[in-house]
Amino acid sequence: MRYVSTRGQAPVLTFEDTMLTGLARDGGLYVPETIPQIDAADIAAMDGQSYEQIAYTVMRPFVGDTFTDDEFRACIDRAYAGFGHAARAPMVQLDQGHFLLELFHGPTLAFKDFAMQLIGQLFQTALARRGDRVTIVGATSGDTGSAAIEAFRGLSNVDVFILYPHGRVSEVQRRQMTTPVEDNVHALALDGDFDDCQARLKDMFNDFDFRDGVGLAGVNSINWARVLAQVVYYFSSAVALGAPARKVSFTVPTGNFGDIFAGYIAKRMGLPIDRLVVATNQNDILHRCLAGQGYHKGDTIPSISPSMDIQVSSNFERALFDAYGRDGGAVAQLMDELKSGGFDVSQGAMQALQEHYASGRVSEDDTSAQIAATLAATTELLCPHSAVGVHVAEHQRVAGTPMITLATAHPAKFPAAVEAATSLHPPLPPRMADLYERPERLTRVPNDLDALKAHIIAHRAQ
Ligand SMILES: *Cc1c(COP(=O)(O)O)cnc(C)c1O
Repeated sequence: MRYVSTRGQAPVLTFEDTMLTGLARDGGLYVPETIPQIDAADIAAMDGQSYEQIAYTVMRPFVGDTFTDDEFRACIDRAYAGFGHAARAPMVQLDQGHFLLELFHGPTLAFKDFAMQLIGQLFQTALARRGDRVTIVGATSGDTGSAAIEAFRGLSNVDVFILYPHGRVSEVQRRQMTTPVEDNVHALALDGDFDDCQARLKDMFNDFDFRDGVGLAGVNSINWARVLAQVVYYFSSAVALGAPARKVSFTVPTGNFGDIFAGYIAKRMGLPIDRLVVATNQNDILHRCLAGQGYHKGDTIPSISPSMDIQVSSNFERALFDAYGRDGGAVAQLMDELKSGGFDVSQGAMQALQEHYASGRVSEDDTSAQIAATLAATTELLCPHSAVGVHVAEHQRVAGTPMITLATAHPAKFPAAVEAATSLHPPLPPRMADLYERPERLTRVPNDLDALKAHIIAHRAQ
């Protein structure tokens, strides 16, 4: 299995190098050269299997000879052992034909644990074999950083530095980043906002001397291995509702387009998915684009579903690559236009996108109202991101085809919004109830590239 860049100018890589690199050197994103197929009989055989068994079947063809069968199985088993639910990704029923896929039973209470826990194990296994170390640097608005720290803490071949905007993440998110005690974990509170964090991260990746010198590796949502790990729960949930004999649809609360793109990969592999619905909050650039209005940046407006507050949706580039017939030159040109504000999508590409994706957007008031309405109708307490999904799904689902909405975070991760909507304070699960008592460890850093580089060089091991 080989991986190519969406901009067509970076070297073709194996799974191992794709995973360890993150971002392609031409600025593009890696995608598999071809999509492996799983036939109906093999999908049917997943009925009754454990999440780990399904994960192995779905992901194995993408990994090539990077891992032996036994190594890969062991990584999967270790990745999900720490989840707080035996089914890993259980489903609850919200209404006739509408199901909620709970993806928040991992160690940091958001779906990002599914991918991050696995790539922690994959990185460690590959690096230990090569006798190599890497320095992981990530930028986060909250959920990615806590999931990355939780996944890489204590792993001997990795240092992990996470940049988060000082004072702008929730207390639960901050404490999840600042309370791990392992020496290889470094939480950096940057004086700036999330865009500053992302900009400094990009600067570091574009500084090839620094990048190669510290063995910089990226684990943000553009890392192909993260997308891959998310393909699994599309299969496990669809099979539980009767696939491949019955088609299902999915609605996905979307920001960087990683999670929904994993659904598209599942469909391309042969899973009978009817509709993939993108749900956005008031930051609705994707909804506007899929409605045919082009892809034009505005200002990010803070919302009660902050993990979806984006203007540039990085994984959308992968969808564009396929919609433009895998023409890397065309994608590179669109991304150039984006630097000066945005681009229009060609008619042919628009048709290709609309063939796979539908979309909806939800206002702040409707998000709150949905949290209250779902609680009243079902006793399920939704986080605001999941509520955006449920609201859109209610408008998009059609009789006869089950709709599965992805619940992307636990309500206790966003207690203020949940309490404002319902007057209920969502408690943390018992296994992390002492989060507020653990001592915190963090470093304030300026919004300055040279200072950041110096800090990382001084504080990584070796
Ligand atoms: C990251 C995140 C999202 C958005 O997922 P993408 O893959 O970036 O589209 C939605 N909800 C929550 C809670 C998240 O943490």
